[in-house]
Amino acid sequence: MTDEVLDLVIAGSGVAGLSAAVYAARADLDPLVLEGDEPGGQLTLTTDVENYLGFPDGVGGMELIQRGREQAEQFGATFEHGSIVSARTDSRPIALDLSTGDTVRTRALVVATGASARWVGAENEAELMGYGLSTCATCDGAFHRGDDVLVIGGGDSAMEEALFLAKFADSVTVVHRRDELRASEIMAERAREHDDVTFRWNTELQAIHGSQEDGVSSTTLVSHPDGYPREKAAADVDVETETVDVGGVFYAVGHTPNTAFLDNTGVQRDEDDYIVPQADEAGRLTARTTVDAVFAAGDVADPEYRQAITSAGTGSMAALDAEEYLDSLDVAPEATPTPSA
Ligand code: NDP
Repeated sequence: MTDEVLDLVIAGSGVAGLSAAVYAARADLDPLVLEGDEPGGQLTLTTDVENYLGFPDGVGGMELIQRGREQAEQFGATFEHGSIVSARTDSRPIALDLSTGDTVRTRALVVATGASARWVGAENEAELMGYGLSTCATCDGAFHRGDDVLVIGGGDSAMEEALFLAKFADSVTVVHRRDELRASEIMAERAREHDDVTFRWNTELQAIHGSQEDGVSSTTLVSHPDGYPREKAAADVDVETETVDVGGVFYAVGHTPNTAFLDNTGVQRDEDDYIVPQADEAGRLTARTTVDAVFAAGDVADPEYRQAITSAGTGSMAALDAEEYLDSLDVAPEATPTPSA
């Protein structure tokens, strides 16, 4: 890893990071893209993307990412393994401590670290994640041909996962902690109408049973007629407990933005830890954050739209805003050699 001060580091290699990399590389900023813990981001877990402009027949998520990376590399972006563990933004250049043990110094940073699937906190989930427990039906659904599976959650993702899993599994049961779905009506209707999808209302997953050798074999479910049974059980209210045999469990309970490394940096985040993008002087949307050399793009700053195309859009905005910021510095655009860290 280089000792020189870089102009721009882009944290994250999903669609937002790649879009930022294409724009920044074309602007001769020689961006370094840190691939992060999930190189390529969430699109690599998707099969076909049908709503990305310019692909009337759809495009594979992985293919879209590979093409984006090729495009960025062609213009001069470089890619390195690793993610940021902590960022020091109180002096310039910004210093980034990486998971690889290296420290990188940069004049500007685009945060495009995305969001990761949430877990529910059931017993044994850490042991069984990847062994019959999954957060991605499109990745792991095909391993469950003929199984009975559970999908945990009541949002659009849960409906989407349930419908996808119904192609392989014998039965899919959506387990939701209350009696009303959060999902949009159209998605909920599709799931309700599917013969192989059923719902368990006011129910939560307490524990998952099985082993890494044999996968998931059963689950412990708790339920209460007023919903949120685990909260009730924790408050010593009686709940119904049942063991249900299943061959797989899929979590679809939302995402958490990957922003822990921004603790103590002054980058403003909302109550769910999403970065809050700042408006410009005229009140218009930008990719700026509350720290002047730090910009944000993609799902890490977007709990609302979370689309590949909006991530590509904010990625380009972040690169353009970073370029404007770097232009405003009284520094030659070429990297300035400095003593090693
Ligand atoms: P959401 O936040 O919309 O839904 C999460 C669901 O999980 C909620 O039903 C929530 O319950 C439940 N949940 C959260 N935590 C727990 C827990 N600890 N235990 C049990 N259940 C829990 O996330 P999604 O990922 O579904 O969707 C995110 C965004 O992406 C939404 O805007 C959605 O519309 C969009 N999306 C759109 C799709 C499409 O249109 N094709 C497909 C997928 C997502 P509760 O309701 O009680 O809070």
